[in-house]
Parts: sequence; C-alpha cells; structure tokens
Amino acid sequence: MSLSLYLVDYHLHTPLCGHARGEIDDYLVEAVKKGLVEIGFCDHLPLYFLPPGQSIPGYAMDEDQLPLYVEKVLALRERSPIPVKLGIEADYAPGRERELALLLSGYPFDYVTGSIHFIDGWSFDHPGEIGEYSRRDLNEVYERYFSLLVEASQSGLFDVMAHPDLIKKFGFVPKRDLRPLYEETARAFKRADVCAEINTAGLRYPAKEIYPARPLLEAFYAHGVPVTLGSDAHAPLQVGEAVEKALALAVEVGYRELAVFEGRARKMVKIS
Ligand code: ZN
Ligand code: FE
Ligand code: FE
Ligand code: ZN
Repeated sequence: MSLSLYLVDYHLHTPLCGHARGEIDDYLVEAVKKGLVEIGFCDHLPLYFLPPGQSIPGYAMDEDQLPLYVEKVLALRERSPIPVKLGIEADYAPGRERELALLLSGYPFDYVTGSIHFIDGWSFDHPGEIGEYSRRDLNEVYERYFSLLVEASQSGLFDVMAHPDLIKKFGFVPKRDLRPLYEETARAFKRADVCAEINTAGLRYPAKEIYPARPLLEAFYAHGVPVTLGSDAHAPLQVGEAVEKALALAVEVGYRELAVFEGRARKMVKIS
C-alpha cells in the first residue's frame, strides 16, 4: 500500500499496566519506523470499580501511577516527531459511572476508550478463565457481552469503544445469527455518537480475525459510526501491527475517513 495512507495506532499500552513490555520511547521509535502518522497511548486505567484494597495483579496500573502515566506520555509528546495523543482504556462497570467520571476528570485526555473485559465479574478475555466458556451458554454470553457494550456506549463517558467483539477472542462463537446483535450495537453507537475501534489484536489470538468481524463493521458503516485504528500493542514490535490491514478492511466496507482525537474532540481525516 502507498505511504500516503493516514495510518494511526490509537491503542498502545505501556509497562505501567504490569503486562506490557518495553519503554514508551521504543513504542514511538517503532511507530516512526512503520510510517504511522500519529499514535495514541491507551493504557489500562486503574481498576476503580474493585472494592477498596482489592486488586488484580498485573492487570492495570495502580491508582497512584496514573499521574506518572500522564506525565510520561505528555513528555514523550514533546520530543516526538509525530503527534502523540493521550488516551486511556477504561473498563465499564455498570453503576460505577460517577467514580469513573471523577477519575477521568483530573487529566487532559485526548480520548477515552471504553472496554468490556468483564461479564459480571468474569474476566472473559483472560487466558486463565477460558474454562468458563464451556460451562456457560454461549448465546447468553454473547447477549450479555453486547448488552454491556451497548450500555457502556450510552454512558457518555467514552469517545471510542474498544475491540467491539472482544468476546470472540478465544474462538468461542455461538451458532446463531449474530447480525441482530450487531445491528443493535451499531444503532446504539450511532445514537451515542461514539467511535468504534478497529483493533488488530484479534489476529494474534484464536479468533484469528480483526475486532470487529466484517459484518459488524458493515453494520457500523451502514449506521454512520466513525472508526479509528488500534493494534493493542503490549510490546514495541506490536506497534502498528496489521493496521494497514485494518485500514484496508475499513475501505472495503466503504469508509473513506478515520476519526482522530484531541482534547476529547473528534476530527475526521481522509484515509488517503
Ligand atoms: Zn492490556
Ligand atoms: Fe482491552
Ligand atoms: Fe488494550
Ligand atoms: Zn484493549
């Protein structure tokens, strides 16, 4: 593909979350090397919804590390040849919207990415929790996942919805037609005016495909939901991984523009 594509990667982690490797400068070096036009760090927000004193080791930065994260990204921006955006990946926890809003309000984020990684306490994207898929009814799991995603999108807390069909990560997919769920999700995203993330990390897992699946992306396009791109890099070499593929998929379904963010405001840029 030509070098004039507007390739971005809006989903980069940092070692502060406890399960990513490398220094943030190395993420930037890799981004420049791969010709990315701009990048956004989007590390895991502290798990604000857990009871006091409780934590999940190696899952997210501690609350006292959040100022350091912000400082590091803003400092990197100063020495970067390409725009570096300050994002954050925040778990949605039903009923805890006020705590989340309060936590987010203290920092100059360019965008907030909302994620569903938990279904009623089940950390379904964690490899140690895979056994649970065979114990549950997959139809119900998918319905619950998408209903949480829809609810999150309506909270007004998020600019971007991360990896929209993350629930397929380990390759467990119900036999039913998923299009009604996709349709409902796309409608909800449009109503809430949120952007959907095309996230390439699914290619690294048994799902072996980008999040979202093509029919879900088609539903987003049909409803006029904007998209952005992310690799979910947890190591410098993963920066920009398959984002050209993600962009090509977006173009195939009809997209001609990508969303970028600054100070929580969305701007559309031409893909090429
Ligand atoms: Zn992570
Ligand atoms: Fe995530
Ligand atoms: Fe992530
Ligand atoms: Zn993620």
